[in-house]
Amino acid sequence: MFEPNRDFACKKLINFINNNLSEYSKLRNFDFGPDQRGNISCLSPYITHGVLSEREVMSLSLKKFPFVKIEKFIQEVLWRVYWKGWLELRPNVWRDYILDLNRLKQEYKDDKNYLEAVEGRTKIECFNTWVDELKRYNYLHNHARMWFASIWIFTLGLPWQLGAEFFMKYLLDGDSASNTLGWRWTAGIQTKGKNYVASEWNIKKFTNNRFSNIKLNENPVPINDERNYSIINNGFLDANISNSQDLLVFDNNISFEQSDFKDQSFKTIYFVFNENETRQIKLDEKVINFKKSLIKDQIESLKNKSLNCKIINIQDLKDMKENLLALYPSIGENLDYINSNNFKNISFLYRKIDQYSWEYCNKGFFNFKNYIPKIVQEFI
Ligand SMILES: Cc1cc2nc3c(=O)[nH]c(=O)nc-3n(C[C@H](O)[C@H](O)[C@H](O)COP(=O)(O)OP(=O)(O)OC[C@H]3O[C@@H](n4cnc5c(N)ncnc54)[C@H](O)[C@@H]3O)c2cc1C
Repeated sequence: MFEPNRDFACKKLINFINNNLSEYSKLRNFDFGPDQRGNISCLSPYITHGVLSEREVMSLSLKKFPFVKIEKFIQEVLWRVYWKGWLELRPNVWRDYILDLNRLKQEYKDDKNYLEAVEGRTKIECFNTWVDELKRYNYLHNHARMWFASIWIFTLGLPWQLGAEFFMKYLLDGDSASNTLGWRWTAGIQTKGKNYVASEWNIKKFTNNRFSNIKLNENPVPINDERNYSIINNGFLDANISNSQDLLVFDNNISFEQSDFKDQSFKTIYFVFNENETRQIKLDEKVINFKKSLIKDQIESLKNKSLNCKIINIQDLKDMKENLLALYPSIGENLDYINSNNFKNISFLYRKIDQYSWEYCNKGFFNFKNYIPKIVQEFI
């Protein structure tokens, strides 16, 4: 389903635009199963890694259709940018998530309910099917992610933090913002007091009756979390670029060739790979290999253009003492590694679309939505 190279991603995008985008808003909520994914784009593993950018996805789509015809799709594409910005403005949400997670991992390591859930051995057939699907394909439909998270929290009674870890481990599109905030949203913490409740009729309808006899807790109370997070805005301003400096690229911006900085000259471009040793959330081998192959694919392409590039392990940063520029890795494990080692020699360059859009992420998505036409006009 997901070949680890940009050519494949571009073909997937074009194919989706030509054949499926016109029906997206009508059909996108249906999960017809892993063999029938034509109603959605399945581009997230590429967008998450910056192999395709939101800009090119939107701009190619808008070449073929007017904004009003594909507004829903554009909104979804910009949800990622919104979630990222929301988390960037509240970095302690991520810090607390990791702290909670490390405590809960100890508490639940021998818990029978938890072990049955992650092994897909619960009494809920659809849930077990999604566990298998996630492990086999490293992807789940958006609606299945919502049902899964809701069942995990409200029927199985497990902490959302452990569910978010389980998703991050297996998803090819695992993203600290979309995932953590998607789980918080389902639990009723993101929009305080409003939880997402999976129900039998909804699952039946939107899986085309693939499942039946689904016994769920359909009247749960939202999870209560008293913590409030005030906004911390560091400005997200680019560092100065001086000639022939080295550049670090992390696994969220892999297509350097498509980046806002592609025309600048850098001495060497270092692609920083983060193996599992330094991660709090250990990723599935298939996810690690996917990331590695995407990086290798980009390096091959840059070498053909005679650009000097290299792959390094994130731990090699400790030995690099010169001043370094980096495409901003965003809140998540790579940035945690930089911060926990207090690397003062690394300064960041931000994506223009993020600098512009994150200004509108201080409130909810409904507020952000008002600015979507402006964002589209500015960047397309
Ligand atoms: C509990 C939970 C966890 C999630 N974890 C992740 C995650 O780790 N990584 C991730 O990329 N998405 C995550 N999502 C969001 C969403 O499920 C996926 O982005 C989407 O299913 C990807 O499939 P697609 O590319 O076919 O999406 P399409 O429906 O084709 O949408 C096009 C693009 O829009 C973006 N998008 C669509 N829906 C959302 C959304 N709800 N939030 C943010 N961006 C969206 C994605 O970049 C996607 O590729 C999560 C959602 C939930 C409810």
